[in-house]
Amino acid sequence: MIIKVTVNYIFHNCFVLTLPDRVLLFDYPSSNMLGREAKQKVKSLIEGKKTYLFSSHSHGDHFELDFAQLGQPRFNTKFIFAREIESYLKPQSGQAVYLIDADDTLQLDDMEIHAFSSNDLGVAFLINYAGTTIYFGGDLANWDWEENSPQEAEFIKDIWEQTLQQLQAYRIDLAFSNADARLKNWSGALEFIARVRPQWFVPMHTFGKPQVLKRFSRNLQSVDRVFLYEEVGDEWEIDI
Ligand SMILES: [Zn+2]
Repeated sequence: MIIKVTVNYIFHNCFVLTLPDRVLLFDYPSSNMLGREAKQKVKSLIEGKKTYLFSSHSHGDHFELDFAQLGQPRFNTKFIFAREIESYLKPQSGQAVYLIDADDTLQLDDMEIHAFSSNDLGVAFLINYAGTTIYFGGDLANWDWEENSPQEAEFIKDIWEQTLQQLQAYRIDLAFSNADARLKNWSGALEFIARVRPQWFVPMHTFGKPQVLKRFSRNLQSVDRVFLYEEVGDEWEIDI
């Protein structure tokens, strides 16, 4: 079955994925990082829609505790958080929060959500929706910093390598993974594309400066299946 999907870029790792009967919102960051336009865009995209909000980990560039500002009725939103976020949550009545541990699988309505351990914090998500497979990496990446100690380098590489090997067993329709311009290796994005071979790819972790993706794109054999966004709200329509 072919599914029509719209991806909207909001900021950094925050994207809205509009599926025929629901919206998936990823890594909505601390609201002080978002301009008015970005906030409005998210609001308008989720308004009245059944919404699943995924947060990969608690770092401020990926997570906001106060989702009330999204203006979405709580009963219409389900929150899927990495387990480590639990310590930041305050009990709020009527809020549907699902915590997921690394290596666990959560059956949520008709979606199956698997979590991989991150080598930064929290998890990466693998989501099965209506027979399609969507990967959202959070901050799991090949963080090959020069200043890493040998132990850090080994830890990062081991988890990255394990995850790539596991992902290679899947046919990934749409993948989001970090392409951080501060690292020479684009934090593993090129390796991810070459080895996992997703049908469609969204680079992320641009700190609100997606212009760096122009430089990233020069490393690609083809840009046809890669979302190279430039501004808040930019939209990509694909069939997966
Ligand atoms: Zn981050």
